[in-house]
Amino acid sequence: MVYLNNAATSWPKPAAVEEAMVCCLREPPEDPYRQQVTRTSSEQRCRDALVGLLGLDTGEGIVFTSGATESLNLALHGLLPSGGVAVTTDLEHNAVLRPLYLQRERGAEVRIVPHRRLLEQLPTALEGADLVVVGHVSNVTGWVQDLSSVYDQCQKKGIPLLVDAAQSLGSIEVPVAGLPLAAVAFTGHKALLGPQGTGGLVLGSQVRPLPWKVGGTGIHSALEGMPTQMPLRYEAGTPNRPGLAGLAAAVSWLGERGVQWAGEHKSRLAIRLGAGLRDLGASVWLEGGGHAGVVSFDLAPWEPTELAYVLAESFDIQVRAGLHCAPLVHRALGTWPRGTVRASLSALSTEADVDTLLGALADLAI
Ligand code: PMP
Repeated sequence: MVYLNNAATSWPKPAAVEEAMVCCLREPPEDPYRQQVTRTSSEQRCRDALVGLLGLDTGEGIVFTSGATESLNLALHGLLPSGGVAVTTDLEHNAVLRPLYLQRERGAEVRIVPHRRLLEQLPTALEGADLVVVGHVSNVTGWVQDLSSVYDQCQKKGIPLLVDAAQSLGSIEVPVAGLPLAAVAFTGHKALLGPQGTGGLVLGSQVRPLPWKVGGTGIHSALEGMPTQMPLRYEAGTPNRPGLAGLAAAVSWLGERGVQWAGEHKSRLAIRLGAGLRDLGASVWLEGGGHAGVVSFDLAPWEPTELAYVLAESFDIQVRAGLHCAPLVHRALGTWPRGTVRASLSALSTEADVDTLLGALADLAI
């Protein structure tokens, strides 16, 4: 199979990921909060690896979750006061939009700014705002938001910035170190090359949402509320320890090669794919230099969903078609309601993968 759906979930994974997960399941469970431990826990190894990758001083602001969706829900519901005002863009994934719409039903105001005009419109949009939520990289076009400039504007007003880094961490540098008012939601199963069901939220030192998920922590059991200790405050319940063992191995694997290497590899392949698609007469959306490996296209007169179906059934090529859970951006791109076909690359994709897709599309072009 040629697998080009890495923006959904990356595959294959480095062999070390599978080995670490199997090893974790073979060994007796070790829980640092619930028993005496004799070796470093998988969550500690994962935290240490992420501290290195993100250039942080400490891992105490890294909260593990089941993925970017849970991280965004934690931050959004925990940071937005009742009846508060949130600012976001039309680029966002439903993992941002749906929690915001839920808050809107509860009385919040949601201001949606066009992503290309965010910096220019922020000064007005920030008036009276409580929270800004911005995707770093689009899962439809690869567009990269200028986070440093957005953060500067938020910081001047003392407003926290929540970043959806689901498509960026592991592909491009994510500015998080030394930003006390930032919270960064990330996922393990995409560019980081880890397993599904892993991810986290990196909280700047001045961002402390109300806990969203509460329950057992193994220690401080007499407290009625969650302990204040970080990151335990946000990590109720038994963690996905085999998943975190896999993620630790994945982050170490990537750290040895460098995020820049991964981004440049994907960029080279994305540009090759984009050029081939244009030669076939397709409309192509490929932004941010292709570093996230996301390439959307429309090969008229094919319906995107039909084309993806034929690629899978007749050529054993996996891509994705439709709105990609980011409905608003398609209105801006003019691709509503059909959406696009998206081919997405990982650090382990090859030129042969790209050329096989282009060959199949050449056969199908009408
Ligand atoms: N945000 C974006 C931009 C995404 O592409 C995705 C995954 N499709 C998510 C959030 C949700 O990530 P997860 O699967 O880790 O919940």
